[in-house]
Amino acid sequence: MKNKMQYSELADKIRGAEMILLGIGSEFRPGLPKMELADAALPYAESEYYSALSDDDAVICAYKRLRKLVGAKPYFAVTLNTDDLIYRGGFERDLVVAPCGSMEKMQCKEHIVEAAPVRKKVLDEIRKLSGERQKDQESIAQILEKIAVCPICGKPLRFHTKSEEGYLESGYLDQWQNYNRWLSCTLNWKLCVLELGVGFEYPQVIRWPFEKITYFNQKSELIRVHSRLSQTASELGERGISVESSPIDFCLSV
Ligand SMILES: [Zn+2]
Repeated sequence: MKNKMQYSELADKIRGAEMILLGIGSEFRPGLPKMELADAALPYAESEYYSALSDDDAVICAYKRLRKLVGAKPYFAVTLNTDDLIYRGGFERDLVVAPCGSMEKMQCKEHIVEAAPVRKKVLDEIRKLSGERQKDQESIAQILEKIAVCPICGKPLRFHTKSEEGYLESGYLDQWQNYNRWLSCTLNWKLCVLELGVGFEYPQVIRWPFEKITYFNQKSELIRVHSRLSQTASELGERGISVESSPIDFCLSV
């Protein structure tokens, strides 16, 4: 499934569906530049990198293309990514669930707050340090202790992502309920289940349930796009379509 003709067939399948379920994984992410910083400072630089990413970046263009392809059809998107770039492509916040969190947000043990103001202050302080000290764990720890604190309770802040200790699941649970409600309305509709760059990290969130949803809805098809892990369950027969491609190239080509 690599040439343009077949891509156009896939685009027709997506356009021909009545509802679209999207799953987005780690292959649908921009590559990060190498950053010469202490480990504790890296998430701040990463978060800033995403929020400053140019509209011309291939990932943003791919999201915009995908959004256009979905058009006015009812859709819901589940993303494992925490870069929030899906919204830059025009996807609506109330139709996306991000169970692994968001790097636009930070949290203490209790509150979830906007990351941008804290991130800016932290990075401004780090950039005042000389080159070597930017990699020095102790200097960075001092800055974080002073600045990365919750504006509500004053306790230490971390990024609001699943990889951080004490991740507050409450941040996405309402939206997860909305997702399940939406899913319950898809049965007996011609549903296109489009999985883009989802590997085996958290397979219980997208990969396995998407196969199950496709299996039970006889009118549905699963299109699984991944550069290495695109194989689909044999039970799906011809309704499981494997596309060996980078999901970004795929979206830019269909
Ligand atoms: Zn707090």
